[in-house]
Amino acid sequence: MALKYSRQRQVIKDFLMTRKDHPTADVVYMNVRHEYPNISLGTVYRNLSLLADLGEIKRLRVGDGVDHFDADTSDHYHFVCTECGSVIDLMSDGLERITETVEAANTGFDGEIIGHVTYFYGVCGDCRKKTLS
Ligand code: ZN
Ligand code: MN
Repeated sequence: MALKYSRQRQVIKDFLMTRKDHPTADVVYMNVRHEYPNISLGTVYRNLSLLADLGEIKRLRVGDGVDHFDADTSDHYHFVCTECGSVIDLMSDGLERITETVEAANTGFDGEIIGHVTYFYGVCGDCRKKTLS
């Protein structure tokens, strides 16, 4: 049974909302496939891209060459483990003001800054425990 486009998109979004680990299209596909065996990786990727373009989810490009996706569109930051590649939510009070800070430091710049992209890199708790043990 083929799923309607809108239904496919909802299934993919519903799955993403159950995950806090910022999965790639591959991971979404592997999971959604259990319930919808006829869905293709291409369909999953296209729908994730469309949802991101529509602003219903976030697309994260953290530098590992593969897009990660986040159903949480609220303002928050991400930590990327340089050992295992996991992408973890980080809250930050004040970093949102980075735009004002940068504008204040660049008085000769006469454009308008409308946003910024910031990722934090390091070693996650699990990987730290592995090196310590
Ligand atoms: Zn790690
Ligand atoms: Mn997130």
